[in-house]
Amino acid sequence: MPEARAVKVLIDGATGDLSFTYLVPEGTEVSPGQRVRVPLRNRSALGTVTEVSRVDADNAGYRLKPILGTVSEDSFLTVGLMKLAEWISVFYLAPIETVIRSMLPKPSRGEEEKRKTAKFVEVARTVDDALLATFNSRQNKQKDALLLLSKQGPLSLQELTGALDIPRSSLKALEDRGIVRVTDRIVTRDPLEDVDYVESAPLVLNEEQAIVLETILASGRELEKGEKIRPILLYGVTGSGKTEVYLQAIQSTIEKGKGAIVLVPEIALTPQTADRFKQRFAKIKDQVAILHSGLSEGERHDEWRKVLEQKARIVIGARSAIFSPIKNLGLIVVDEEHENSYKQDTVPRYQARDIAVVRGHLEGCPVVLGSATPSLESWNNVREGKYELATMRLRIDNRKLPLIRIVDMRNEGRKSQSGPTILSTKLRTAMEQRLANGEQTILFLNRRGFARNILCPECGYVANCRHCSTTMTLHRKDDRLVCHICGFSQLPPSRCPECSGRSIVNAGYGTERVEEILRQVFTEATICRVDTDSMRKKNQLRDTLNAFRSRKIDILLGTQMIAKGLDFPNVTLVGVLNADVGLHIPDIRAGERTFQLLTQVAGRAGRGELEGEVVVQTYTPHHPSIQFARHHDFEGFAEYELALRKRFSHPPYAHLALITSRSAHLERAEFSLKTLHARLKRSLPEEITLTEPLPSPLVKSHDQWRFQIVLKSPGARRLAAHIRTVMKDLTFPDDVVVTVDIDPYSMS
Ligand code: ADP
Ligand code: ZN
Repeated sequence: MPEARAVKVLIDGATGDLSFTYLVPEGTEVSPGQRVRVPLRNRSALGTVTEVSRVDADNAGYRLKPILGTVSEDSFLTVGLMKLAEWISVFYLAPIETVIRSMLPKPSRGEEEKRKTAKFVEVARTVDDALLATFNSRQNKQKDALLLLSKQGPLSLQELTGALDIPRSSLKALEDRGIVRVTDRIVTRDPLEDVDYVESAPLVLNEEQAIVLETILASGRELEKGEKIRPILLYGVTGSGKTEVYLQAIQSTIEKGKGAIVLVPEIALTPQTADRFKQRFAKIKDQVAILHSGLSEGERHDEWRKVLEQKARIVIGARSAIFSPIKNLGLIVVDEEHENSYKQDTVPRYQARDIAVVRGHLEGCPVVLGSATPSLESWNNVREGKYELATMRLRIDNRKLPLIRIVDMRNEGRKSQSGPTILSTKLRTAMEQRLANGEQTILFLNRRGFARNILCPECGYVANCRHCSTTMTLHRKDDRLVCHICGFSQLPPSRCPECSGRSIVNAGYGTERVEEILRQVFTEATICRVDTDSMRKKNQLRDTLNAFRSRKIDILLGTQMIAKGLDFPNVTLVGVLNADVGLHIPDIRAGERTFQLLTQVAGRAGRGELEGEVVVQTYTPHHPSIQFARHHDFEGFAEYELALRKRFSHPPYAHLALITSRSAHLERAEFSLKTLHARLKRSLPEEITLTEPLPSPLVKSHDQWRFQIVLKSPGARRLAAHIRTVMKDLTFPDDVVVTVDIDPYSMS
C-alpha cells in the first residue's frame, strides 16, 4: 500500500477553530508547529501544522488537497508549546490559532518571517599578484578594498565603507569584474551589543538561601527519578537574597545542559534585574536572551530566534517570555509572582504565572514562584498542599526591616491653615535629616500629572472626559487636561463651563505638583521625578537610576515605576505620600494590592549598612492592609484576607469570569448582554452563580458603552465550558463586541 504524508493545519484568523487535513507533496519537509500556506475553498490561507500523519495514498490521499508550500523553514513551536496552546485555549476560552500566534513575535506571524538583512561583500576569486597588477594608479581604492577583504573575510557594506571611505562605484566596478561578490545576509540585532558586562562570581549563600537552593535542586532530581513534584513558592522578605538563589539554580540547570526561563514583571522598569543576570553569565552572554517591551520589534525577534535556534538557553523576560521555544527546559522562575502585570489584558487573557506552572507540569521541570508578598492564590495553594513552601525570613547580613511609621493625614489637614497638605511635618523633618546626613530619600505617589482634577468650588463642576466616564487629570507642563484612559486632552477652562465661576481650583496631588512643592521646600536638594511623562526617552530611566545610585540625586520622586525591585544601599528613607490611592476602588484585590505595594515600597529602604525608615501618609490609618504592612506581617495579612475571601466565596476560593459587552450604542451593548444573560441562565450548572447584567464601573471608555456580567464557580473548567457552549450558538450585532475574561484582574 503506497503511503503519503498528511498534515492537520489550523487556519489563521478563522472565527472558531478551523482545522483541515492536507497532503504533503513529496520532498517537502514539515513538522508540527511549522507555518504553511494551504488552499481554502477558492482562495489560499496561512496556518500552523498541528499534526503530521501517514495516510494511504491510494485512498484518502486522493481526496486531500496538497499544501501550497511552507512559510517558515523550521518549526516555530516545540511540542510542549503546542500542548500548552491547547490548554490555554480551553481554559481561557480563546481560539487556539490566536493563542498560537500570540506565542510568536510579530515578524513571525505573517506571510513571511521578516528578518533584517544587510549587504555583505566578499572576495570571489583568488587574490594574487597577477590580479593586483591589473589595477592602475587611479584604482587604488579598489585595490585597498580587495586587500582588506582578502585579509578580513566577508564584511558588511557598512563596515567596508566605514573602514575605507570607498565610493559605491568602485565596489560596483569590482563586482562587475567578478572579483567580489555582494550578497544579502541575515543580520541579528543584539540590544546589549555595546554593553560590556563584568562577570560577577556566585556569592556564598547564607543558611536560608542554601536550604532553598537545595529544595529547588532536589525537586529537579526527583523529577529525573520520575517522581511527581510540586511548584515551589519562595516566600522571602525584601532583601533576603532571592535573586542570588535564582542565579545559582540557573547555573546548575545549564550545567546539566538544560535551559531556563526567568519571568520578571517588566524589565523596562527594572533594568537592574536584567543586568544582574547578564553579569553573572557574562562569559556566556550570547546564551542569554532578553525579551521585553523596551526592545524594538526587530530586536525582540532576533532574541527569540536565538532561543528557537537553541543558541540561547537562558531567557529573561516579561509575561510572554513564558512562550520561549526552549526545547529542553530545566527550570522556570517567576520573580515577584504576585505582580498584576503577569495577566495579559487582551486575547488570550492568560496569567503568565499560572501558565508557568502548567508549562512546568507539561514539560517536566521545576517551577519557582518568588515574592516577598505572595499572591493569595499561591499562598492558598501552599495551604492546600498544592505548592511546596520555601521561606527566607531574614534579610542578608541580618539587616533589619525598616521601621514603618504611619501618619494620620486627617490630623495634618486640621493643623494646616491652607487646606490639605501633601507633606506631613513628620515626613518633612525626616527628609531634612536625610539631606543633612547625605543620605537618600525615595518618595512614592501613584498618580502622575499635576492635579487629580480641576474643581469649581461654587457649583461642584469637575472636568470629565467626553469619551470616557472618568475625570481628567491636569498636566501643568503642557497645560492640558488629560484623560488617563483614552489619552484625550483639552485646554483647561479658565472659567467654570457650568456656572462661569472664576475660582476653579486644582484638586488632589499628582507627581508633577509634588515636584513643584519639593523644589520650593528643599531648595538645596537635587530632585528628580520618575513617571511615564518625565521618562519618555529611551534609556532615560536607566540613566536616572544610575545617577541616583551614584548619589547625584538626593530625592527621587516617582510612581510605581520606582516601587519595585530597586536596590540602592544609601536610601534610608521612603515616603508614601498617599497610601489610600488604590484602596477605595471597587476591586476584590484592592486591599491585597495596597498591602503588596506598601511592603514592596518599604522594601526599598535600609538595604545597605544604614538602617531604613518608612513614613506612610494615609487618611485611613487603621485599615488592615496598612496595619499589617506596618508590622511586616504578610502571614497575618494573608490569614485575615483569606478568611474574608472565604466568607464571600471570592478568589482564590472561586474562579470568576467577567463578560463584557461594548458598543458605541448604549442600548445595543445592554441588549446583547441581556440576551446572553438569559441564555447563560437557562442551563446553568448548579455550582455556578451569575450577576444580573450591569453597567461596568467604567461605563464608557473610548466612546464605547460597557456592560458586564460576572460569573462565579468553584471550578474554572466547568465555568469556561458553560460559557463556551452558550456563546457558540450566539451571534451579536456587528457593532457589539463581547469579551470573556477568566480569572480577571480588573473588574472595571
Ligand atoms: P531580594 O530579591 O530578596 O529582594 P536581592 O537578591 O536583591 O534580594 O539581595 C539583596 C542584596 O543582598 C543584593 O545586593 C545582593 O547582592 C546581596 N546578597 C544576596 N545574597 C547574598 C549573600 N549570600 N551574601 C552576600 N550578599 C548577598
Ligand atoms: Zn477618555
